[in-house]
Amino acid sequence: MKKIDFSKYSSIKIGPVCDVEELDEIKNENEKFFIIGGANNLLISNNPPKLAKLSKKFDYIYEKEGFIHIGAATPSGKILSFCKKRDIRGFEMLQKLPGLLGGLVKMNAGLKEHEIFNSLVSIKTVNDYIKKEDISYGYRKTDIKHIIYEAVFKCEKGFDKSLFEWFETLRANQPTLPSAGSCFKNPKGEFAGRLLQECGLKGFRVGGVGFSKQHANFLANYGDGTFEDALKAIDIAKKEVKTRFDIELELEIKVVGH
Ligand SMILES: Cc1cc2nc3c(=O)[nH]c(=O)nc-3n(C[C@H](O)[C@H](O)[C@H](O)COP(=O)(O)OP(=O)(O)OC[C@H]3O[C@@H](n4cnc5c(N)ncnc54)[C@H](O)[C@@H]3O)c2cc1C
Repeated sequence: MKKIDFSKYSSIKIGPVCDVEELDEIKNENEKFFIIGGANNLLISNNPPKLAKLSKKFDYIYEKEGFIHIGAATPSGKILSFCKKRDIRGFEMLQKLPGLLGGLVKMNAGLKEHEIFNSLVSIKTVNDYIKKEDISYGYRKTDIKHIIYEAVFKCEKGFDKSLFEWFETLRANQPTLPSAGSCFKNPKGEFAGRLLQECGLKGFRVGGVGFSKQHANFLANYGDGTFEDALKAIDIAKKEVKTRFDIELELEIKVVGH
């Protein structure tokens, strides 16, 4: 058991100090926990469910017989540098995309059409490996119900340097204040950021939390933001967009324990 202060650990720097179980082995009883990764996509309430994270034992990456095996506690930066060094393609979008492998797979994280599922083969859960074909997935979503301990990917040669540089350019405009990345998913054929901006919400604040002046779809913590501020801002944004465009914005951020 570890005490984690989510106002420090989470990327949005909001949340309580609470006990988090550290999982060292693969076993059925782990499934009772809400599993966290790097907390880069989470907004944690003051009353969260029982939390757990994978121990360092699951932080590994290796290539074997044409496949890459990655432990679910492996950070995105480590995966990217492994692939860069060995000239492997398919992970270029991990440049400045924070997270641990388990969180990246569960969220089908990515940028534009470059998603982690593109080169996924299977995931290892408590019950064995589940093939990609048996997982339902889409834009920032999967139906994975179990804890992911490892994922296996195709090992395709040819790291795409120009793609990597393009991602780097896109990231240059990303807000630097603490956030959990994009707050809402882009509705089909639309951009959540544009809708928020049209509603006059770019730069709009509730207490210490607000929609970034740089990028309206980034919910930023200006220093003393609280869980309640964040929920209120989200609620106002959803209502404004619904009233003005008749579009229901869907959260990309996961609210935990509310
Ligand atoms: C500055 C910034 C930029 C970002 N840019 C992008 C972007 O371009 N594209 C993008 O897709 N995302 C982006 N994000 C969001 C975030 O990086 C991704 O959602 C990432 O996948 C989160 O990984 P994590 O390990 O932090 O997961 P967490 O935030 O800890 O958890 C996210 C979800 O994954 C689940 N989960 C975590 N570990 C496991 C596991 N081992 N097994 C099963 N489920 C698990 C959790 O239960 C939760 O439902 C950004 C975030 C920030 C702060």
